[in-house]
Amino acid sequence: MHETIKDIKLPSPPAIALRILEAVKKGDASFGELAQIISVDPALTAKVLKVANSSFYSMPNKVNTIEKALSILGMNITKNIALSFVIAKELTGNKHEGFDFIYFWKRAVTCAVGAELLASLLHYKNDDIFVSALLQDIGVLVLHLCWPGEYRQVLDEKRATEASVFGCERKLFGVDHQEIGAELLAGWGLPETISTMIRYHHASDCPEAVRMPVDLLHWSTMLASIYYGSRSVEKVQRLKGAICPRFQVKEEAIDTLVDAVAQKSVELLSFFDIDPGDMKPFSLLLQEANEELRCINLSYEQLVVQAKQARKKAEDLATELLLANAKLRDLAFRDGLTGLYNYRYFQELMEKEVNRATRYHLALSLIVFDIDFFKNINDTYGHPAGDEVLRNLATLVTITMRTSDLIIRYGGEEFAVILPMTDLAGCKVFAERLRRRVEEMEVLIAGTLVRITISLGLTSYESSMMAMDKSQMINAADTALYLAKQNGRNRVSVIQLKV
Ligand code: GH3
Ligand code: MG
Ligand code: MG
Repeated sequence: MHETIKDIKLPSPPAIALRILEAVKKGDASFGELAQIISVDPALTAKVLKVANSSFYSMPNKVNTIEKALSILGMNITKNIALSFVIAKELTGNKHEGFDFIYFWKRAVTCAVGAELLASLLHYKNDDIFVSALLQDIGVLVLHLCWPGEYRQVLDEKRATEASVFGCERKLFGVDHQEIGAELLAGWGLPETISTMIRYHHASDCPEAVRMPVDLLHWSTMLASIYYGSRSVEKVQRLKGAICPRFQVKEEAIDTLVDAVAQKSVELLSFFDIDPGDMKPFSLLLQEANEELRCINLSYEQLVVQAKQARKKAEDLATELLLANAKLRDLAFRDGLTGLYNYRYFQELMEKEVNRATRYHLALSLIVFDIDFFKNINDTYGHPAGDEVLRNLATLVTITMRTSDLIIRYGGEEFAVILPMTDLAGCKVFAERLRRRVEEMEVLIAGTLVRITISLGLTSYESSMMAMDKSQMINAADTALYLAKQNGRNRVSVIQLKV
C-alpha cells in the first residue's frame, strides 16, 4: 500500500506541451507564438491541420496553416488538439507488462470523439471536452507505468469482485486514477477546468460546476464501450435511457450519434497513427449480425429442403431397386426365347402347388408335352424357324389354358402345364383340346405354312389321395409322355398316381 500521492513519480511533461501551455497563458498576445510553436514541428502541424480539415469541424474552406486554424477554430480548440497529440505521443509504448498502450489510446480517442459529438448534440459548448475525455483515464496509464506488475492485480480484482476500478486502486495504492490523472495534468500546467473534470469523472459527488462535463465523460465511456466491450445493444439502450428523457432528444438521434462515433473515430485514429482495425458503425454491425442470423436460418431451411430431396431420392432409388430386383428375379425365372417360366422355377412352382393340394385336399394336374419330330423342323427350315415355332406354340398354350394354370418351358422342345384345382377328367379335356389346337396351328415360315404335333403325358393328384412328393408327379407325367411317344405320338397318355 502506498501512503500518499507524493510517493508516485509522475512522468515529466513533454517540452512542446509545456511551451504550448506557457504560450496560451499569455492570452491573445500568444496567438502568433502558439502558431510558431506548433509550426516548428512539421508532424504535429500536419496532424493539427488534418483535424481542422476533418469532417469533425466541417470547414467550408481548406485550413492550410496553423494561423488559419487558430483564427477559425479558436486558440483553445487548436491548443487542445495539439496537446492531445503531444500527450498521446509522449505516453505510449509497446505492449508492456500486460498493458496495451494502443488499445488504451484507441479507446481514449473514441471517448474523446464521443464526448465532442454528444456535447454538440446537446448544444453544450465546452472547448475542453475533447481533450478531457481523451485524457480522463490517463491516471490508469500512469499507475501502470509506476507499478506495472501490481496494476494487473487491480484489473484481476476488478474482474473477480466486479468492484469499481478506482475502488480497487485505492485499496492497493491508496490513490486512484482520477487523482493521479488530475495531479499529472495540473502539474503539467493544463487548465484547472480539465484537471477538475478528470478528478471527479467517476464521482457521484462531484462539484455542481462540473456536473455536466463529468456526465459527458461518463457517457463518452459508455459510447466507447459500445465498440470495445460486450452487450452493446444493452449499452445503447442505457445511453438512450440516460440522455433522451433528460434532454428531450429522440432515440434516433442517439442511433445516429453512435454510428457517427465509429465513423469519426476511424478518421481521427489515423491522425493519431493508430490502426482503427475494422471499426464499423453500430447500425452496420447490427445489420451484419442480422444478415448472418438470416443466413444461418436460410441454411437451416436449405438443409431441410436438401434432406427432403435426399429422402425422396433415396425412396425413388429404393423403389427402382425393388423393381429392378423383381425384374431380375423374373428374368432368372423366365425363359429368354418364349418368356415362359423356366425349369428352375418349375421346381419351385411344383413344390408350392403340391404342398397346397395335399394340405387342403385340392386336385392338381400336371401335363408334360414334347413336340413330335422337332428335329426335322430345325433340319428343314433352320434353327431360327424352329425358334419361331417354339414361340408360336408358347403363345397358343398360354391363350388356351386358364389364367390360373401355369406354363413352363421344361426343356428344349418340352413344356409343362400345371393345372391347380383340376382333376384327371378336366385335365384330359384340356390336354386333348391343346393337342388338337397345336395340330391345327400353322406357322408361316419363308412362305411355307409349317405344322407340328405334340405328344402329352399327364397325371393328376386327387383330393382323396394321401400326401405325396412333387417328384412322384413329375415322374408319372414324364412316363406318360414316354408312353404317348411310344404309342405313335400326337396323343395324350395318362399315368395314374398311386398314393
Ligand atoms: P421326338 O418326337 O422323339 O421328340 O423327336 P424330336 O426330334 O422332337 O426329339 P429330339 O430330342 O431328337 O430332338 C429335339 C430337337 O429339339 C433337337 C433340338 O435341336 C431341338 N431344340 C431343342 N431346343 C430348341 C430350341 O430352343 N430351338 C430350336 N430351334 N430347336 C430346339
Ligand atoms: Mg421332341
Ligand atoms: Mg425332346
